[in-house]
Amino acid sequence: MTNQFDVIVVGASVGGATASVLLARQGLKVLVIDRKRGAEDYKRVCTTFIQRSALPTIRKLGLKDRLDAAGAVQNNAVFWTEYGWIKDDGPRDPETAHGYSVRRQVLDPLLLDLIAAEPNITLHLGASLTGLIEDGGLYRGIEWDDASGATHAARASLVVLADGRNSPGAKLAGVPTRNRDNQRFVYYSYYTDMPLKTGKVAQFWQVGRDMGFAYPFDDGLTMLCSFVTQDQHEAWAPDRRAALEGFFKGLPEAPDQSAAQPASEMLGMRKLNDYARPAVWKGLALVGDACMSCDPMSGVGCGFAFQAADWLAEEVGPALGARGATVAALERYRRKHRKFLAGHEYFIQDASNGRAPNLLERMISRAAVADAEVAHRLHLFIGRVTRWNEFLSPGTLARILRANIAYAMKKGEAFHALP
Ligand SMILES: Cc1cc2nc3c(=O)[nH]c(=O)nc-3n(C[C@H](O)[C@H](O)[C@H](O)COP(=O)(O)OP(=O)(O)OC[C@H]3O[C@@H](n4cnc5c(N)ncnc54)[C@H](O)[C@@H]3O)c2cc1C
Repeated sequence: MTNQFDVIVVGASVGGATASVLLARQGLKVLVIDRKRGAEDYKRVCTTFIQRSALPTIRKLGLKDRLDAAGAVQNNAVFWTEYGWIKDDGPRDPETAHGYSVRRQVLDPLLLDLIAAEPNITLHLGASLTGLIEDGGLYRGIEWDDASGATHAARASLVVLADGRNSPGAKLAGVPTRNRDNQRFVYYSYYTDMPLKTGKVAQFWQVGRDMGFAYPFDDGLTMLCSFVTQDQHEAWAPDRRAALEGFFKGLPEAPDQSAAQPASEMLGMRKLNDYARPAVWKGLALVGDACMSCDPMSGVGCGFAFQAADWLAEEVGPALGARGATVAALERYRRKHRKFLAGHEYFIQDASNGRAPNLLERMISRAAVADAEVAHRLHLFIGRVTRWNEFLSPGTLARILRANIAYAMKKGEAFHALP
C-alpha cells in the first residue's frame, strides 16, 4: 500500500504532535506514525520542567487550557548557589510568564488528543519506522510496520523526524551526530506531602559540581531530582533513594521531608548521552530530540521540541508542494533553529562534563544575587526566552562587573536570603 501525503511525521510526542498539528491546520494532509500503542505508552523518563520559552507555542496549539485543566503547575524557579538565592522579581511578559511542570503520563495523552482532533491528520499508532524512501537525493517517503507486522509505504513532499532520543530515522538516513560528554547521572522520584518553602515555585541548588531540584507537580506531588557527578555513583548505588533524600537534607530552605511519602519508584539515567545533529538533512526536517538532546539538567528538551516544531511549521508549511520552495524554506528553518538554539546548546553542553562553575558563572551568580536586574535577565536566559548574546550584552556585563567589585569589597557577605 503506498499513500501520498503533504507531510509525514515520525513520532507523536512533543515535537511530532506540535509539527503535525500546526502543519495540518494550514490545510496540509499529514501522516503521523508512532510506535507507541496509545495514551498509556507515555515517555517514562522525563522530569518535564517545561521552560517558559515554550509558552507561546503551547498557547498556539490550544494546549494551555488543557494543561491548566489537568492540574499542570505553572512553573517558575529560584536558584541557590553558595552566594545566596537568585530570584526574579522583574516584569513578566504575559507571553512567556511561566512554563509548565506536568508528568508525562498527563502531558503525552493530551498531545495525542490534539493530533486526534485534526481532520487533516492520519494517525497510526503501533507503527514503527523501518525505512526511508529516497528520491533524487532527498528523502520523500517512509516504510513502516504496523502492530501486526504488515509493511506499508507512504510518500510526501516533506518527512519530519520527531522520533526522539537516538532517533531511528536519523540513523537510517545517516545524519551526522556530534556526541557530547556528560559526566553526571540523574535520579529522581515523586513524593506526596512534601511542601516547598517556596510554595509552587520550584527550587534549584548548585552544590559544588552537583545539582538538586525540587519541583511542585500536578496532583499535589513534589519531585526531588539530583544530577550528580559519575565518580559518586558507587556511593549512590546501594540505596539510591536514601542518597537522593540525603542530598537535600541540610540544604538552605530545603523541602520538608518529615511527612513525605514516595509516590513513584526511583527513576533516572545512569549515563546521559547528549548529542546534536543538523536540523535539516537531505530534505528531512529534524525536530526535538531527534535533532538535539541537551543535558536534561537544563530542562530544555520539551521546550525546544515545541519551539523547533513551531518554527518548522511556520517556515515550511506555506512553501510545501513546490520542490525548490520547500528546500529554501527548510534552509530558513535550519538557520532559525541554529540562531535560537545553538548558543543555548553550547553553554549547556559546556557545563555537562561534571566541572564546577567557572569564573564567569561564579561572577554571574554573585551579581544575580545582588542585582535584581541581572537576576531578571539571568532568569530570562535560563528560561530560554533570550539568547546568550542578549543576556551577556555589554550592559549586563557591566552590571556583573560592578556587583563583583562590590562583592569583593564586602568580603563575600551574602546579599539577601529567600523571603
Ligand atoms: C532524565 C531526563 C529528564 C528530562 N527532563 C526534562 C525536563 O525537565 N524538561 C524538559 O523540557 N525536557 C526534559 N527531558 C527531555 C525531554 O524528555 C525530551 O527532550 C522530549 O521528550 C523530546 O520530545 P520529542 O518529541 O523530540 O521526543 P520524544 O518525546 O522522545 O518522542 C519521540 C516519539 O517517537 C516515537 N518513536 C521512536 N522511534 C520510533 C520509530 N522507529 N517509529 C515510530 N515512532 C517512533 C516514540 O514512541 C515517541 O513517541 C528529559 C530527558 C531525560 C532523559
